[in-house]
Amino acid sequence: MPNSPLKNVLLCTRCILPSTFPGIKFDDEGVCNYCHREEKALEKSTEKKAEYRKRLDELISRIKGNAPVYDVVMAYSGGKDSSYTMKLLRHEYDLRVLAITFDNHFVSPIAWENIRKVTDALGIDHMSFRPPWPVARKIFSLTANEDIFPAPTLMRASTICTSCIGMVKTIVLKTALEMKIPLVAFGWSPGQAPIQSAIMKTNPKLIRQNQTALKNAFPEDIRQDLLTYFIPEPYYEQYAQSFPYNIHPLAFFDYEEEAIKEDLHRLGWRPPDDTDTNSTNCLLNAFANQCHIERHGFHPYVWEIANMVRQGVMDRDEGIQKIYSPQDPQMVKYAKEKLGL
Ligand SMILES: [Zn+2]
Repeated sequence: MPNSPLKNVLLCTRCILPSTFPGIKFDDEGVCNYCHREEKALEKSTEKKAEYRKRLDELISRIKGNAPVYDVVMAYSGGKDSSYTMKLLRHEYDLRVLAITFDNHFVSPIAWENIRKVTDALGIDHMSFRPPWPVARKIFSLTANEDIFPAPTLMRASTICTSCIGMVKTIVLKTALEMKIPLVAFGWSPGQAPIQSAIMKTNPKLIRQNQTALKNAFPEDIRQDLLTYFIPEPYYEQYAQSFPYNIHPLAFFDYEEEAIKEDLHRLGWRPPDDTDTNSTNCLLNAFANQCHIERHGFHPYVWEIANMVRQGVMDRDEGIQKIYSPQDPQMVKYAKEKLGL
């Protein structure tokens, strides 16, 4: 990789985490401490998956049909993981799904096409939420240059992505509360979020803490612009009894990228050729990755992909290809210019 800040790094011989990753150590065989830490959990993963599958079946049979209109609100990017999650919710559980897309002004044209095709094919209502461009631009220009969130978030995502996901989570939760929807679904891949959090009742106190932390991470002028997007203070009491469950079923359903793509193909979804290898929906992603790699010396998706390699849901060479190929310069340039940076 000429001219890449990743060219001289050593990689864990098992999972692909690089020597530049925070807190990493290698043993004599070149296997990293994160791999060793996960060994026990991996041994039990088949059991765990079955246990979570059963828990989801139980939860769904308890709540299905109780809410006035929808059983579940899906945070829907149009990418393959959220499309597939939504397909599971419709086909495996026959739930009434409301899909919400956060339009960050960088959703690719093919992603929009996929969103329309998949929601039509599955018979799902869809809404999109778009903050005005000047607000989006301010947030992404700031987070392109500055890591405003606590250090541990940097191990799992770029600051641009974290700011965007913060908005997504807030919007779907707010909708769930207002429409009395008992489930909020995310399409996190099995590497993105641990199985332990795959079915979790949201807690008003913790949500309030997270919202305050998110709010306070922004400088005062941007915070003022963002006030209407956060969970309104009265909601914590008003809806205290109806905070939803968050679920991310891909942590415990079978996950095989090619099989998923084939399945989605039948719904009219097609792999975008207008985005980079890590995202199938966002035109800001390559630039976000580039900013993170330049500042921190490792790819912001490496944690996720390393987890998937370790779990055997992704081939090691494919993981290396995804993470250690340079970002598409055209994509980086597109986002940078659009943001005026
Ligand atoms: Zn490792």
